[in-house]
Amino acid sequence: MKDMNSLQNIDWDSLTFSLTPTRSMYMATCNAGEEWDPGKLVPFGDISFSPAAGVLNYGQGVFEGMKAFRTVKDRIVLFRPEKNAVRAAGSAQRVCIPPVPTEMFLDAVKSVVKDNADYIPPFGKGSLYIRPVIWGSGPILGVAPAPSYMFLVYVSPVGPYFKSGVKSLHLKITNQYHRAAPKGTGGHKIVGNYAVSLYPQQLAKKSGFDEAIYLNAADERFIEEVGSANIFILKDDVLTTPSLDGSILPGVTRASVLKIAREKLNLQIRQRNVSVHELLNADEVFCTGTAVVVTPVGMITTNLHSQTINNNEMGPITTQLREMLLGIQQETHEDPFGWICPLDE
Ligand SMILES: *Cc1c(COP(=O)(O)O)cnc(C)c1O
Repeated sequence: MKDMNSLQNIDWDSLTFSLTPTRSMYMATCNAGEEWDPGKLVPFGDISFSPAAGVLNYGQGVFEGMKAFRTVKDRIVLFRPEKNAVRAAGSAQRVCIPPVPTEMFLDAVKSVVKDNADYIPPFGKGSLYIRPVIWGSGPILGVAPAPSYMFLVYVSPVGPYFKSGVKSLHLKITNQYHRAAPKGTGGHKIVGNYAVSLYPQQLAKKSGFDEAIYLNAADERFIEEVGSANIFILKDDVLTTPSLDGSILPGVTRASVLKIAREKLNLQIRQRNVSVHELLNADEVFCTGTAVVVTPVGMITTNLHSQTINNNEMGPITTQLREMLLGIQQETHEDPFGWICPLDE
């Protein structure tokens, strides 16, 4: 058994949210209509399949994003990994991919993390980002589900998602593009959702914004989310986030923040439509996601004007939520909800 405390010779302080190749990845395959074959660890590296692979031609693919942490207790933990397993199965079903059973998903994730434990940053220096993907890998010419599938889990040590660290974000509300339609696929982590967000994201970044905020496609009266993070507003002691109506991704961080807010900070919580007016007049605004954790929003620009939120600083509730969530994940804070999943050594 490998020593779980040994570390790679990596400059942990300069980690960003980018890919660092590691030792190994997990790979399993499945033929349409059959069970998944048992998977195994293979060296991390390129894979090959037909140019006619379903995922390459018709986007038949889903992914997940989760993190492993080296905690203050000097052990390695995952955060609510069963939530990702269940969500992945739901995404898979939506695009006719045979779902990976929860136990298989969790075993795969744990085995990759263990085999690459020396790539997990030291306590407080970042985390090991885990990327499970499930793809239609077999060849298919007409538009139809692929004849075979591949489930891969790879990992990469990462630092902060936004280069600015926890500096407040400046977001642009876009009504040039929508991310997800009613009854579409926005509520699932399906690869095609992200291809279509690249151009609006690029436009926002070129104009000096950190990201775009999407409005609901039906009538553009309500905010939905940021390209890969959920959004929250605080007004007085009420914390509100758009309700999950099918076009918003049900974030694990979103659900966790709602629970901490209600049970630990005694805030009232609401899940409902949130108008642009309410967003611009909030006391605090922040976004949540595995990659961004809890990141404050300090300025929001519409087609007409820019509005500063909380003097462009991280507000007190945003700070508390961020610290409690990170504290639970890194075990500097007790875990009152049983969210932490230690890797048994
Ligand atoms: C993954 C994702 C999120 C955040 O979900 P978490 O489970 O908190 O990481 C939010 N919005 C979109 C569009 C996403 O893809």
